Amino acid sequence: MLQIKNFKADINNSEILKGVDLTVGPGEIHAIMGPNGAGKTTLALSLMGHPNYNIKYQISNIKYQIDGKDMSKLLPEERARQGLFISFQQPVEITGVSFLSFLRTAYKALHPDKKIPLSEFKNELKKTLKDVGLDESFMYRFLNEGFSGGEKKRAEIVQLLILRPKFAILDEIDSGLDVDSLKIVAEKIQEAVEKYSIGILLITHYQRILHYLKPDFVHVLIDGKIKKSGGMSLVKKIEKDGYAAI
Ligand code: ADP
Ligand code: MG
Repeated sequence: MLQIKNFKADINNSEILKGVDLTVGPGEIHAIMGPNGAGKTTLALSLMGHPNYNIKYQISNIKYQIDGKDMSKLLPEERARQGLFISFQQPVEITGVSFLSFLRTAYKALHPDKKIPLSEFKNELKKTLKDVGLDESFMYRFLNEGFSGGEKKRAEIVQLLILRPKFAILDEIDSGLDVDSLKIVAEKIQEAVEKYSIGILLITHYQRILHYLKPDFVHVLIDGKIKKSGGMSLVKKIEKDGYAAI
C-alpha cells in the first residue's frame, strides 16, 4: 500500500501541492488527471524525493508511507529500494551508459538477493524489448540518446517490466505517442499490473490512454489539490465539459 495524507510540496517557497490524500493498493491503477500546471509532475517528483522539491514534513499530520514504512526522510535511491519507480515526463539521455548496463545496475541494486547471470538477463531484456516493439540493438545504445519520443516512452516501460517495482509513477507516459505506440504501452502497463501486481499512479492530461487502460480510480488534480475522485464516468465528464466543470 502506498499512502499519502495531507501531502504538501513547494518549490522556491511557493506552495504547489496543497494537501493531497491518496491510497494505492497493489495491482490498482489510479489515474491522476489535471490541467497544465496543476502539480502533477510535482506530485510525481516529490514522491520520488527529487531534491528541488521541499516537502513540508515539519507540518504535523503529513503521512507518506509504503507498506507502513515512512518514506519521507529517505533518499530517492532508498525509495527505489522500497519498491518505488518513476518514469519521467521527459526521460533524460545518459551518454556513455548503455541501456543494458543501466538496467543491470539498477536491477542488482533493487534485487541484491537475485543473482541472474548476464546471459539470462540479456535474453530477458531482448524479449522485453521485442514485446514493446524495440529492436534488440537498443540494449547496446546509450540510455535514451537519440531515441525518438515514442522510443523513450517504450524504453521506460521496458524498465518497468524488468525492474518490477511495487509501485510505479508514470508521468505522462502517453505524451508524444502515436496510436500504435499508445496501444502497446497501455497493454504492457496492464500486463505489469496483472502479472506482478504493480500499483500504478498514471499521470496524464489526456483521456486517450484511458480508453486502452482502464483505471480503477480517477482523481482530478487542480491547483495542487484532488478536487474529485471517481471512475471512468469522471473521465467522460472531463472529455465532455473540460476541467472547468470540476
Ligand atoms: P503539471 O505537471 O500538472 O503540468 P507541474 O507540477 O509541472 O504541473 O507544475 C506545477 C506548478 O509548479 C506550475 O505552476 C509550474 O510553473 C511550477 N513549477 C514547476 N517547477 C518549477 C520550478 N522549478 N520553479 C518554479 N516553479 C515551478
Ligand atoms: Mg507535468
